[in-house]
Amino acid sequence: MVLNDNKLGQNFLQPVLEQFDIIAGRIGLDEKLCMILRNCKRELTVHFPVPLDDGRFVTFTGYRVQHNLARGPGKGGIRYSPNVTLDEVRALAILMTWKSAVANIPYGGAKGGVICNPKTMSLRELENLTRRYTTEISLVIGPDADILAPDVGTDARVMGWIVDAYSQQRGFYVPGVVTGKPLSLRGSKGRAGATGRGCAIVTSETFKYFNINLEAASVVVQGLGKVGSAAAIQLDKFGCKIVAASDSSGGTYSPSGLNVQELINFKSEGGSLIDYKGGDRLTNRELLELPCDVLLPCALEQQITSENAPNIKAKFIIEGANGPTSPSADRILDENGVIVVPDILANAGGVIVSYFEWLQDTQSYFWSEEQVIKRLTSIITSSFRDVLEIAEREKVNLRTAAYILAVKRVAATMEARGLYG
Ligand code: NAD
Repeated sequence: MVLNDNKLGQNFLQPVLEQFDIIAGRIGLDEKLCMILRNCKRELTVHFPVPLDDGRFVTFTGYRVQHNLARGPGKGGIRYSPNVTLDEVRALAILMTWKSAVANIPYGGAKGGVICNPKTMSLRELENLTRRYTTEISLVIGPDADILAPDVGTDARVMGWIVDAYSQQRGFYVPGVVTGKPLSLRGSKGRAGATGRGCAIVTSETFKYFNINLEAASVVVQGLGKVGSAAAIQLDKFGCKIVAASDSSGGTYSPSGLNVQELINFKSEGGSLIDYKGGDRLTNRELLELPCDVLLPCALEQQITSENAPNIKAKFIIEGANGPTSPSADRILDENGVIVVPDILANAGGVIVSYFEWLQDTQSYFWSEEQVIKRLTSIITSSFRDVLEIAEREKVNLRTAAYILAVKRVAATMEARGLYG
């Protein structure tokens, strides 16, 4: 039996390519480069059997896609979800190319996924699935080829199984094949919360630029997962008021502010936010349309569309998730004066600290948490300033500016390496 549910995610590739086409046209990108960059360089689909606890063997389907490797090894997370599709993985791999380029780190873009439901699988089944998937994709991954990381439905424990399965095949320990590992496996201090911390730093820089006080700003977080929780903790420390948060069950709202740590504890004890008693219940749709200063979509792609964009009341949207806003929604938000800090800049903290982890593993020399945070802050802040400079010079919004920066950087590398054929 091949488990396959291709209902969601298949439309995500189209907006990602549409965004690229807009920028390619705007900067007059060479036709050959356009053609190359509209496609993913390498796409591996694997079907593999996994023994389940009830004695059955089930065939699962997984992917690893490398979009572009001109600037360095592929880099990108692994998603475990029933809704994973090849098109979704392609779209996410393309975004990784642009994200690494915006942060100016020496990586290309890649992504992986397995069609499965980690919520209904036992730890043993998940470990079996992870080890077998790693073996199947080991043809194309490695510390100099393509480096994996956590994404939706995967975490540090899964990364631990991946590094072990890969290292067993090689016959020696290869920590650099995966980032987001536990510290005991040569992970990096500060990696776990890096994406969310990056979102919070970018929020603070955005407020500084607009000369607005971040303290007491009201914040709504869609998707209190790894990224959303870390962003909420950091923004809470910056003095913001987290007024609403959600997960896949729905959300909770308290205009006077929620207790972030209590919410995170509630979730880690297995609770669904819809059942949280410290605020009013609301749906994810209602949550996105709440009045607030900052909206942080940190769940999944294509959450803000032309349907709900006209009702968005947030002044700023900081994209913790990859691709949460459709291009048509973007146009509406732009017209309505909503400032959107795009995913390829806002959530780059994860890939930046992944780069630090890989560097530390390569050198077997480990940094303190203070060093990690200081260097993350420095890189993400200077990326933000690079993007702002383009936005001001070209009179474009931040997404267009970030894409101009990214596509030009990748194109320059490809041109310098030479196109053959
Ligand atoms: P996660 O699985 O830890 O968390 C996702 C959260 O979103 C969960 O709480 C889930 O319940 C919730 N959710 C799912 N569907 C929802 C919906 N319709 N409405 C509201 N909430 C919903 O995943 P994560 O690693 O935090 O990733 C979240 C997003 O951030 C993804 O788009 C991912 O690609 C992106 N991202 C993650 C990282 C990283 O380091 N983990 C880095 C960059 C970008």
